Amino acid sequence: MYCIFCDKSTRFESFGVPVRSQAKCSECGSLERHRLVWSWLLKFELEFIKQSRLIHIAPEACLKAVLSRIAKEYFAPEWDLRKIPFPDASVNMILHNHVMEHILEDEVAFREQARILTPGGTLFLTVPFGGERTRESTTGREGPKVRRKQFGQHDHWRVYGLLDIVDRIKKCGFTEVAVIDATAQLPESDVARTSLDRYLVRAEIGS
Ligand SMILES: [Zn+2]
Repeated sequence: MYCIFCDKSTRFESFGVPVRSQAKCSECGSLERHRLVWSWLLKFELEFIKQSRLIHIAPEACLKAVLSRIAKEYFAPEWDLRKIPFPDASVNMILHNHVMEHILEDEVAFREQARILTPGGTLFLTVPFGGERTRESTTGREGPKVRRKQFGQHDHWRVYGLLDIVDRIKKCGFTEVAVIDATAQLPESDVARTSLDRYLVRAEIGS
């Protein structure tokens, strides 16, 4: 398989629960979602990244290496997303992968991200999807066993829905929100040879 981060053919290993074949690059550790995000950003958002003051939450080494080199300013802090120590309208771009399903109060976290983005600023994210509607914790007190069974992992609070995630994010202050089937916008040959995830979410603050 071809790894976009290593820029060469590498061996892809099985990874995850349940196990996914050809998931993890044996050299850089990138997963399908990382290769998807970077393939798509490189094709459609490269100029935006170059001009951006960018915050990368829960930074993965593979993405950090490329983004920190390209972005105008790059931050990879360890924060509680419900309370971000940045002024209003102070960054252009936020990126994170598989973070929001770990946050019980995701609405508070989305509002905080909307607050610190400039007009025209954009959040890119990936989350685990399962069906059209979001399924989530109703009590906020389910234990690890229940959460693993209901939401796929012991420390997840929900599985997002492909349809309702748009309104869910919009009501937190974003104006343009879209779930993008990124593999449909990338060359078929690239998708076949690189083992990619499928969806990413783009949420913009109106300018
Ligand atoms: Zn790699």
